[in-house]
Amino acid sequence: MNELKPKPSVAIIGAGLAGLSCADRLQTLGFQVQVYEKSRGPSGRMSTRHGEGWSADHGAQYFTARDPVFIEALNTWIKAGVAADWNPRLSVYEGEQWREGNSSEHRYVGIPAMNSPGQFLAKTISIKFNQTIDKIYQQGGKWFLRSLENGDVTQSFDYLVLAIPAPQSFALTKLVDHSIEVICSSVNMQGCWTAMARLSEKVDMPFDAAFINGEIISWISRNNSKPGRTGHETWTIHANPQWSQQWIELDKEESSKRILESAKKLGLNCQNAEISIHRWRYASGAITTEMGFILNENNKLSLCGDWLNGGRVEGAWLSGYKLANAINISAETNL
Ligand SMILES: Cc1cc2nc3c(=O)[nH]c(=O)nc-3n(C[C@H](O)[C@H](O)[C@H](O)COP(=O)(O)OP(=O)(O)OC[C@H]3O[C@@H](n4cnc5c(N)ncnc54)[C@H](O)[C@@H]3O)c2cc1C
Repeated sequence: MNELKPKPSVAIIGAGLAGLSCADRLQTLGFQVQVYEKSRGPSGRMSTRHGEGWSADHGAQYFTARDPVFIEALNTWIKAGVAADWNPRLSVYEGEQWREGNSSEHRYVGIPAMNSPGQFLAKTISIKFNQTIDKIYQQGGKWFLRSLENGDVTQSFDYLVLAIPAPQSFALTKLVDHSIEVICSSVNMQGCWTAMARLSEKVDMPFDAAFINGEIISWISRNNSKPGRTGHETWTIHANPQWSQQWIELDKEESSKRILESAKKLGLNCQNAEISIHRWRYASGAITTEMGFILNENNKLSLCGDWLNGGRVEGAWLSGYKLANAINISAETNL
């Protein structure tokens, strides 16, 4: 390898956990990386909503850590004070009956909020926020981007990483790479309606979190039971993927009404609560890929994200990490 030749430049679209872990790993390997993110902050679906005196994790609720490489990253986060164990009193509602949940699984959360690990990773990465990339194209072996907000991006890149959900990857790749476009279009991602209830006082429920196998709701949890949370009592309620997808175009007020009626039947009365509602268009859904990412060695277009690696936080992080290693090998081979 020629030591004097700089590593190729890489653009990453999406600052969720997959994009962040990919950027972090590439930087460690000596690459120059620029991330573009459409939101105003990092962390994607591993996220937290803040209100006056309250906050609620409204995307991922917790994560598991099974892979040794991810466990190592998690330990760094724990040491930095941005993640910790969460041991909720757990219940399961099934067949109209309650039972105790399995608490032997280790569950982790970001502290003080679910987006804290993402914010921690983002600190050392160059990210341009409020940049929705709406066009990608390759010319003379370089990748060019256009953002909805600012038009053409002046910099061009050797490698391009899409770290965004399948339907959004499909929209960007459809005129660019047919084989990748086909993979993206094969993934059926489902939405999720999420209600957050800020209550004036602590609710007396026999659990902190519950898996619900009901007509509408799939999950309820008390945010304040997670470590490092302060502020008012808040509960997060997720509608299940089937119901959410069926009613994804419902207006927010009506969706909120139906979810809260269902929560009331489960014993969580949010009548006097301040309610916030969020519609996730692409919450869940994944395909099984052998590597957990896609890298086209010919045009240097690549994809990572939860949907290519099991569909959860740990899978998203690993997908980005593994892709970074693959780009490194590809770059060394092409020198
Ligand atoms: C309601 C809900 C509950 C969940 N519960 C759990 C759970 O309990 N445990 C668990 O492990 N996982 C859970 N998940 C899944 C977990 O959140 C995801 O697996 C993980 O966060 C995905 O990370 P990612 O980086 O692949 O994608 P994302 O987090 O979606 O990141 C993609 C990023 O790309 C940005 N972006 C998209 N398009 C563009 C564009 N054109 N230009 C620029 N930026 C763009 C987005 O704004 C986003 O920041 C849940 C998800 C949801 C929605």
